[in-house]
Amino acid sequence: MRILVTGGAGFLGSHLCDRLLKDGHEVVCLDNLFTGRKQNIAHLLSNTQFEFVRHDVIDPFKVEVDQIYNLACPASPPHYQYNPIKTVKTSVMGAINCLGLAKRLRARVLQASTSEVYGDPQVNPQPESYWGNVNPVGKRSCYDEGKRCAETLFFDYHRENKVDIRVVRIFNTYGPRMHEADGRVVSNFVVQALKGEDLTVYGDGQQTRSFCYVDDLIEGFVRFMGQTHSVGPLNLGNPGEFTMMELAELTLKLTGGKSKIVHKPLPSDDPKQRQPDIALARRLLKWEPAVPLEEGLKRTIAYFRGKI
Ligand code: NAD
Ligand code: UDP
Repeated sequence: MRILVTGGAGFLGSHLCDRLLKDGHEVVCLDNLFTGRKQNIAHLLSNTQFEFVRHDVIDPFKVEVDQIYNLACPASPPHYQYNPIKTVKTSVMGAINCLGLAKRLRARVLQASTSEVYGDPQVNPQPESYWGNVNPVGKRSCYDEGKRCAETLFFDYHRENKVDIRVVRIFNTYGPRMHEADGRVVSNFVVQALKGEDLTVYGDGQQTRSFCYVDDLIEGFVRFMGQTHSVGPLNLGNPGEFTMMELAELTLKLTGGKSKIVHKPLPSDDPKQRQPDIALARRLLKWEPAVPLEEGLKRTIAYFRGKI
């Protein structure tokens, strides 16, 4: 197949391009390089099955493809809050443009949604049936509400126009090719530990997250896109739940770093807990994350060690 990956030069997108090429597909990678980098796809540029298009998903685009993965959107809180209005436009206009294209081409289209649709959840772990607890007017809202609106658009195009959608809610995913200055917790801690800087834990560090290694997530994407039983929404993530203090301590242990842990103010609306309920993915895709946090962190540390 010929497959479009928007946001294909980013962290997840570049791994997805690798996987799709490995599976024998042609890949069109569309990205405006806001948080993505050519470096992430440099090894693919000489591949005749691969094409890079520098373009903003806010503006309509035309390519002839069989499938679309819509990943274009900054994902780390500092990046999506840098220009919040642009973040909403990217989510909403990007979804409309992908869905319009999918409708015309009768192409299957996957939306990279997020666990942020659950906001600061009052139910733990979060099943897909939970509607969430989201502040509509806070600093995270541009991302959370943008992604929620994109899900709405996907389901309306599906109901109204029979577009063949897949909506996946991604929980915190990490691994090689995260940006050093991304601002997300795993890259922050690893880079700080390797540079001998203080590890910045926000708040008391008792808030929890569940961390999925990138290879596991990409396997889930491809399996979800390949089946016809469900359009989602579908949670993908690793159910192992850790406090940020536990993550900081594990990072120090694995890097052998001598950094101190310091506390910084907790950002507004920072969710207190997050853990995916992946019963549906297990049943539907026979999918299960295979890489435990310690192993995934070791691989991520090795990557950043090579960069720093
Ligand atoms: P990333 O920032 O590395 O990748 C996003 C990519 O989208 C970048 O290459 C960026 O340049 C591109 N982009 C941003 N705005 C664009 C625009 N207007 N037009 C074209 N390209 C644009 O982040 P990531 O972690 O790889 O996330 C990829 C997708 O997965 C995002 O949609 C994100 O919301 C979603 N997601 C990721 C996680 C995670 O933990 N990594 C969790 C939930 C959801
Ligand atoms: N966090 C932290 N130190 C950092 C960066 C983040 O303690 O240097 C915390 C952050 O407050 C949040 C958790 O780690 O509670 C995960 O943050 P991230 O930005 O990675 O993802 P998200 O909040 O979107 O889940």
